[in-house]
Amino acid sequence: MLRPAQHGERAGARRGAAAPRRVMTRPPPISGRTRVVGIIGDPVAHSRSPAMHNAAFAALGLDWVYVPLPVEALRVGDAVAAVRALGMAGVNVTVPHKQAVLPHLDALTARARAAGAVNTIVNRDGRLLGDNTDVAGFLAALRHDQARVRGRHVVVVGAGGSARAVLVALRAARAARITVANRTPARARALARRFRSGATVVTVGLDGLREPAHLADVALVVNATSIGLQGAPFPPLAYGGTPRDCRFVDLVYGRDTDFLRRARRAQRHALDGSEMLLQQGARAFTLWTGRRAPLRVMRAVLRRKS
Ligand code: NAP
Repeated sequence: MLRPAQHGERAGARRGAAAPRRVMTRPPPISGRTRVVGIIGDPVAHSRSPAMHNAAFAALGLDWVYVPLPVEALRVGDAVAAVRALGMAGVNVTVPHKQAVLPHLDALTARARAAGAVNTIVNRDGRLLGDNTDVAGFLAALRHDQARVRGRHVVVVGAGGSARAVLVALRAARAARITVANRTPARARALARRFRSGATVVTVGLDGLREPAHLADVALVVNATSIGLQGAPFPPLAYGGTPRDCRFVDLVYGRDTDFLRRARRAQRHALDGSEMLLQQGARAFTLWTGRRAPLRVMRAVLRRKS
């Protein structure tokens, strides 16, 4: 016997019901039952998450909508309280609020606690659960790119919310040595202290990236700063001092950043953050809706020029 359609789910999209004849690409109209999710951050206008998630909702016939919600640093607590007050199903959290939301949540998953950062909030009947899908998203993106870091040296530039998720992921992937370079050295040192078990974590200032000696055995360089988002030039880095098979990953997506351009010019493999965006988004989608994310649809949206 078919179960009744759940709240926010179109009857034709039930699990086990006949597959719809064609994939819906247009979002359904907003109804009185539309479930609302979104992204809080500053800035959020560049984000591809609304397009990616709304296409996924449409493809599965879900009466859900995903909206961009710019939130200034001083209003983070108000914004999280609004998720609860407005009965939103949840939100993604992006730059620079991934750590700032923590004290406003009711509970954290083990992943979020390990990272000390949250990128996905799930509203479970008024209780707000903080999770971190960046960790698994980053690992899945590495796997997709066939990057191997086990037993190797990885350089992470940045010490903000996403760098924390990257460090949890690198520890899980058994990187042997991690060098963290950050503009504010104290933040890098705090990160190194937090993640020192399981891998050797050392810190250098951004100046250290000019030193080929620091990069001679590096398998992967991750840019976890928002420099590319601002369109700014990346600090000097000895790209040519890395091994020929060293990979360069910028978490910023959808733009050809200075970091990626210079890596390619040095004939190194360079990858933007699109696959990570897809993979972390797919996991957030499932946490909110309980449904498997339509990866093919979401990937197609990200490949399209905005
Ligand atoms: P965040 O918490 O605000 O941290 C920003 C980091 O960038 C800090 O380490 C900061 O250094 C550094 N930074 C900012 N401007 C800089 C500059 N002009 N020069 C040198 N360093 C600078 O942000 P986040 O949440 O970690 O996000 C970082 C980036 O990753 C964002 O662009 C975000 O969109 C991207 N991201 C992408 C994905 C994806 O799925 N592809 C997932 C997560 C994040 P200080 O400590 O010195 O301030």
